[in-house]
Amino acid sequence: MDATIAFIGAGNMARSLIGGLINSSYDRQRLLATDPNEDARQQLTSTLGISALADNHEAAGKADVVVLAVKPQQLQAVCRELADTVQQHKPLIVSIAAGIRSDDIDRWLGGSMAIVRAMPNTPALVGSGASGLYANAAVTPEQKELAENILRAVGITVWVNKETLLDAVTAVSGSGPAYFFLFMEALSEAGERLGLEAEDARLLTLQTALGAARMAMESEEPFATLRQKVTSPGGTTEAALKVFGREGCSEIIDQAAQAAYQRAGELA
Ligand code: NAD
Repeated sequence: MDATIAFIGAGNMARSLIGGLINSSYDRQRLLATDPNEDARQQLTSTLGISALADNHEAAGKADVVVLAVKPQQLQAVCRELADTVQQHKPLIVSIAAGIRSDDIDRWLGGSMAIVRAMPNTPALVGSGASGLYANAAVTPEQKELAENILRAVGITVWVNKETLLDAVTAVSGSGPAYFFLFMEALSEAGERLGLEAEDARLLTLQTALGAARMAMESEEPFATLRQKVTSPGGTTEAALKVFGREGCSEIIDQAAQAAYQRAGELA
């Protein structure tokens, strides 16, 4: 990959993506970023050693890929500002702004642009993200690969073939970290009520979450099989799982995901 990539907006997510690309040996000379905030520019130059500009046109004009990494509410103004520049050389546009449709981005940029929409999640900030990706009809297979490589710098990627499925991605991985935080919070508190020191309960909970995720990642088996394998008949795990079943835990999770999905659709 030797494309020049310009990040418009050098905030948290852009810095993580840039850091991930540099860690995977991407040529720094081919990375640019812009931000109106001088501190953000300085941080980028001092910590990551890449060129940070104040001028969005200058960066977008030199780029094969323009990553739109501003807040959703800033996106329309940024796109309208960049329209003339991008219409001249038609770079690939990658938008990571939550909830803004590719049709709107295309219209604001003047039309007929190749656009990939990415829905990363917060663990991308620590290199363990999960991103859903959607490409509009103008994106070539080479450009898809390029977009995928950028998001893979901070975690795993999954392509969806309908843009509305990004709302399902939001319901699973976008909002998902909070679901797991809630579960860990409740389990850790339960451990404390059973007499464990708070710090011990936290550590045991955390390592168990990490261990379960790692085991599942290293296995080909479905989650249900893994669960059955660690549940001996008449044992402690079975006693706990019976309570989850009786109280409708799976139904609650389903309803929660549906609510997130619906809300994502309303916000788009
Ligand atoms: P952030 O506020 O840290 O970064 C946004 C940056 O854009 C700021 O540094 C700001 O100064 C800059 N900016 C503002 N106006 C600008 C302009 N006109 N031109 C260039 N830069 C401008 O936000 P973030 O958390 O990095 O999020 C960026 C995008 O990523 C958002 O659209 C968000 O929806 C998406 N996203 C973030 C996360 C996350 O976990 N942080 C997860 C999923 C999606």
